[in-house]
Amino acid sequence: MPHTGNHIHLTGQTGNRKETNMLHEKLEEIMEAIWCAAEQEETSIDSIRKNCSVDFTENDLTDLENLGMIIINKDNILFSKNGNASAQEIIRRHRLAEVLVSSILKLKDAAMEEVACKVEHSLVPEVEDSICTLLGHPELCPDGKPIPKGRCCKRNLREVSNVVVSLTDIKPGKKGKITYIKPGSHSNMHQLLSIGLQPGIIVTVHRKSPAFCIKFENTELALDQEIAKNIFVWEIKEDG
Ligand SMILES: [Zn+2]
Ligand SMILES: [Zn+2]
Ligand SMILES: [Zn+2]
Repeated sequence: MPHTGNHIHLTGQTGNRKETNMLHEKLEEIMEAIWCAAEQEETSIDSIRKNCSVDFTENDLTDLENLGMIIINKDNILFSKNGNASAQEIIRRHRLAEVLVSSILKLKDAAMEEVACKVEHSLVPEVEDSICTLLGHPELCPDGKPIPKGRCCKRNLREVSNVVVSLTDIKPGKKGKITYIKPGSHSNMHQLLSIGLQPGIIVTVHRKSPAFCIKFENTELALDQEIAKNIFVWEIKEDG
Protein backbone atom coordinates (compact mmCIF):
# COMPACT_ATOMS: atom_id res chain seq x y z
CA MET A 1 0.00 0.00 0.00
CA PRO A 2 1.44 3.38 -0.89
CA HIS A 3 2.02 5.79 1.95
CA THR A 4 -0.96 8.09 2.26
CA GLY A 5 1.08 11.03 3.47
CA ASN A 6 -1.24 11.82 6.34
CA HIS A 7 1.72 12.06 8.68
CA ILE A 8 3.32 14.93 6.84
CA HIS A 9 2.46 18.55 7.47
CA LEU A 10 3.60 20.74 4.66
CA THR A 11 4.44 24.26 5.68
CA GLY A 12 5.63 27.14 3.58
CA GLN A 13 4.76 27.85 -0.01
CA THR A 14 6.06 26.43 -3.23
CA GLY A 15 7.60 29.80 -4.11
CA ASN A 16 11.03 30.98 -3.02
CA ARG A 17 10.68 29.58 0.43
CA LYS A 18 12.06 26.15 0.95
CA GLU A 19 9.39 23.64 1.66
CA THR A 20 9.93 21.84 4.93
CA ASN A 21 8.49 18.50 5.77
CA MET A 22 7.57 18.39 9.39
CA LEU A 23 6.81 15.07 10.93
CA HIS A 24 3.74 14.31 12.95
CA GLU A 25 4.37 15.01 16.65
CA LYS A 26 4.35 11.37 17.63
CA LEU A 27 6.84 10.49 14.93
CA GLU A 28 9.04 13.38 16.07
CA GLU A 29 9.04 11.97 19.59
CA ILE A 30 10.12 8.59 18.23
CA MET A 31 12.90 10.21 16.19
CA GLU A 32 13.99 11.95 19.38
CA ALA A 33 14.07 8.63 21.25
CA ILE A 34 16.12 6.97 18.50
CA TRP A 35 18.63 9.82 18.76
CA CYS A 36 18.81 9.64 22.56
CA ALA A 37 19.29 5.87 22.48
CA ALA A 38 22.05 6.31 19.89
CA GLU A 39 23.79 8.79 22.24
CA GLN A 40 24.00 5.88 24.67
CA GLU A 41 25.22 3.68 21.81
CA GLU A 42 21.97 1.75 21.77
CA THR A 43 19.98 0.96 18.64
CA SER A 44 17.56 -1.72 19.82
CA ILE A 45 13.82 -1.09 19.72
CA ASP A 46 13.70 -1.85 23.46
CA SER A 47 16.18 0.87 24.33
CA ILE A 48 14.38 3.30 22.01
CA ARG A 49 11.13 2.52 23.80
CA LYS A 50 12.79 3.33 27.14
CA ASN A 51 13.86 6.72 25.78
CA CYS A 52 10.50 7.55 24.26
CA SER A 53 7.88 9.80 25.85
CA VAL A 54 5.07 8.17 23.84
CA ASP A 55 4.08 4.57 23.18
CA PHE A 56 4.70 3.48 19.64
CA THR A 57 3.85 0.50 17.49
CA GLU A 58 5.56 -1.31 14.68
CA ASN A 59 3.31 0.63 12.29
CA ASP A 60 4.82 3.91 13.46
CA LEU A 61 8.28 2.56 12.73
CA THR A 62 7.11 1.40 9.31
CA ASP A 63 5.79 4.92 8.68
CA LEU A 64 9.20 6.36 9.50
CA GLU A 65 10.82 3.81 7.24
CA ASN A 66 8.45 4.67 4.39
CA LEU A 67 9.28 8.33 4.87
CA GLY A 68 12.93 7.44 4.36
CA MET A 69 13.90 8.44 7.90
CA ILE A 70 15.07 5.14 9.32
CA ILE A 71 16.33 1.73 8.36
CA ILE A 72 14.85 -1.17 10.28
CA ASN A 73 17.21 -4.08 10.68
CA LYS A 74 15.48 -6.78 12.72
CA ASP A 75 15.32 -5.29 16.24
CA ASN A 76 17.64 -2.43 15.49
CA ILE A 77 16.83 1.01 14.14
CA LEU A 78 19.32 3.16 12.30
CA PHE A 79 18.84 6.63 10.82
CA SER A 80 19.10 7.23 7.11
CA LYS A 81 21.12 10.29 6.08
CA ASN A 82 17.89 12.31 5.83
CA GLY A 83 16.61 10.89 9.08
CA ASN A 84 19.79 11.84 10.87
CA ALA A 85 19.50 15.43 9.62
CA SER A 86 15.82 15.64 10.65
CA ALA A 87 16.49 14.12 14.05
CA GLN A 88 19.27 16.64 14.64
CA GLU A 89 16.77 19.47 14.07
CA ILE A 90 14.16 17.84 16.29
CA ILE A 91 16.70 17.35 19.10
CA ARG A 92 17.87 20.92 18.72
CA ARG A 93 14.31 22.20 19.12
CA HIS A 94 13.64 19.91 22.08
CA ARG A 95 16.80 20.88 23.97
CA LEU A 96 16.41 24.57 23.22
CA ALA A 97 12.85 24.28 24.51
CA GLU A 98 14.24 22.67 27.67
CA VAL A 99 16.69 25.53 28.23
CA LEU A 100 13.90 28.01 27.59
CA VAL A 101 11.45 26.29 29.89
CA SER A 102 13.96 25.77 32.69
CA SER A 103 15.59 29.20 32.58
CA ILE A 104 12.53 31.35 31.92
CA LEU A 105 9.65 29.35 33.37
CA LYS A 106 11.85 27.75 36.05
CA LEU A 107 10.26 24.34 35.68
CA LYS A 108 12.26 21.27 36.62
CA ASP A 109 12.60 17.63 35.63
CA ALA A 110 9.29 15.99 34.72
CA ALA A 111 7.40 19.26 34.37
CA MET A 112 10.21 20.71 32.28
CA GLU A 113 10.29 17.62 30.07
CA GLU A 114 6.55 17.71 29.51
CA VAL A 115 6.36 21.39 28.61
CA ALA A 116 9.52 21.17 26.50
CA CYS A 117 7.97 18.35 24.50
CA LYS A 118 4.95 20.54 23.76
CA VAL A 119 6.88 23.71 22.98
CA GLU A 120 9.33 22.04 20.62
CA HIS A 121 6.66 21.02 18.13
CA SER A 122 5.51 24.58 17.68
CA LEU A 123 8.90 26.16 17.13
CA VAL A 124 9.28 27.35 13.56
CA PRO A 125 12.85 27.88 12.35
CA GLU A 126 12.72 31.71 12.61
CA VAL A 127 11.55 31.59 16.22
CA GLU A 128 13.96 28.79 17.02
CA ASP A 129 16.94 30.93 15.98
CA SER A 130 15.65 33.93 17.95
CA ILE A 131 15.25 31.80 21.05
CA CYS A 132 18.71 30.31 20.58
CA THR A 133 20.17 33.82 20.27
CA LEU A 134 18.19 35.08 23.27
CA LEU A 135 19.57 32.21 25.34
CA GLY A 136 23.12 32.90 24.15
CA HIS A 137 23.43 29.89 21.81
CA PRO A 138 23.58 27.35 24.63
CA GLU A 139 25.75 24.30 24.01
CA LEU A 140 24.09 22.03 26.53
CA CYS A 141 20.55 21.34 27.68
CA PRO A 142 19.77 21.42 31.42
CA ASP A 143 20.60 17.70 31.72
CA GLY A 144 24.01 18.35 30.19
CA LYS A 145 23.32 16.85 26.76
CA PRO A 146 24.71 18.60 23.66
CA ILE A 147 22.42 20.88 21.63
CA PRO A 148 23.10 20.60 17.89
CA LYS A 149 24.15 23.96 16.46
CA GLY A 150 21.83 25.94 14.22
CA ARG A 151 22.42 28.57 11.54
CA CYS A 152 22.33 31.32 14.17
CA CYS A 153 25.13 29.69 16.21
CA LYS A 154 27.35 29.42 13.15
CA ARG A 155 26.64 33.01 12.13
CA ASN A 156 27.34 34.08 15.67
CA LEU A 157 30.77 32.49 15.59
CA ARG A 158 31.75 34.82 12.77
CA GLU A 159 30.41 37.97 14.39
CA VAL A 160 33.03 38.13 17.09
CA SER A 161 31.62 41.27 18.70
CA ASN A 162 28.33 39.54 19.42
CA VAL A 163 29.75 36.43 20.97
CA VAL A 164 28.62 35.45 24.39
CA VAL A 165 31.63 35.05 26.65
CA SER A 166 32.31 33.40 29.94
CA LEU A 167 32.31 35.75 32.93
CA THR A 168 35.98 34.88 33.46
CA ASP A 169 36.79 36.31 30.01
CA ILE A 170 35.78 39.86 30.77
CA LYS A 171 38.08 42.40 32.38
CA PRO A 172 37.67 43.86 35.86
CA GLY A 173 35.44 46.92 35.77
CA LYS A 174 33.48 45.61 32.77
CA LYS A 175 29.83 44.63 32.79
CA GLY A 176 27.97 41.73 31.25
CA LYS A 177 24.37 40.62 31.03
CA ILE A 178 23.87 36.98 32.00
CA THR A 179 22.45 35.02 29.09
CA TYR A 180 22.98 31.51 30.23
CA ILE A 181 24.32 29.49 33.13
CA LYS A 182 25.82 26.19 32.11
CA PRO A 183 24.58 23.57 34.51
CA GLY A 184 27.61 22.29 36.38
CA SER A 185 26.47 20.64 39.54
CA HIS A 186 22.86 21.07 40.54
CA SER A 187 23.64 22.49 43.97
CA ASN A 188 25.74 25.26 42.42
CA MET A 189 22.97 26.11 40.01
CA HIS A 190 20.37 26.32 42.76
CA GLN A 191 22.71 28.38 44.91
CA LEU A 192 23.18 30.89 42.10
CA LEU A 193 19.47 31.11 41.42
CA SER A 194 18.68 31.50 45.11
CA ILE A 195 20.92 34.56 45.41
CA GLY A 196 19.32 36.03 42.30
CA LEU A 197 22.05 35.34 39.76
CA GLN A 198 20.06 34.37 36.71
CA PRO A 199 19.69 35.15 33.02
CA GLY A 200 18.92 38.82 32.43
CA ILE A 201 20.88 40.10 35.44
CA ILE A 202 23.71 42.56 34.76
CA VAL A 203 26.90 41.88 36.67
CA THR A 204 30.17 43.78 36.96
CA VAL A 205 33.44 41.92 37.32
CA HIS A 206 34.92 43.64 40.36
CA ARG A 207 38.29 41.94 40.58
CA LYS A 208 39.83 38.64 39.58
CA SER A 209 42.38 38.13 42.32
CA PRO A 210 42.92 37.06 45.01
CA ALA A 211 39.33 35.86 44.55
CA PHE A 212 36.99 36.21 41.60
CA CYS A 213 34.60 38.88 42.72
CA ILE A 214 31.50 40.30 41.07
CA LYS A 215 29.00 43.02 41.88
CA PHE A 216 25.34 43.00 41.03
CA GLU A 217 22.34 44.83 42.41
CA ASN A 218 24.27 46.27 45.40
CA THR A 219 25.69 42.88 46.27
CA GLU A 220 29.34 41.96 46.19
CA LEU A 221 29.98 38.29 45.76
CA ALA A 222 33.05 36.07 45.58
CA LEU A 223 32.65 33.24 43.10
CA ASP A 224 34.50 30.03 42.57
CA GLN A 225 36.51 30.16 39.30
CA GLU A 226 34.76 27.01 38.12
CA ILE A 227 31.35 28.54 38.69
CA ALA A 228 32.30 31.87 37.12
CA LYS A 229 33.49 29.99 34.04
CA ASN A 230 30.03 28.49 33.60
CA ILE A 231 28.25 31.83 33.65
CA PHE A 232 27.89 33.25 30.15
CA VAL A 233 27.26 36.91 29.45
CA TRP A 234 26.90 39.41 26.64
CA GLU A 235 29.65 41.86 27.35
CA ILE A 236 28.21 45.36 27.63
CA LYS A 237 30.36 47.89 25.80
CA GLU A 238 30.10 51.31 27.37
CA ASP A 239 30.78 54.50 25.43
CA GLY A 240 33.39 56.97 26.60
ZN1 LIG B 1 10.23 16.02 22.89
ZN1 LIG C 1 17.72 17.56 28.06
ZN1 LIG D 1 22.25 29.65 17.98
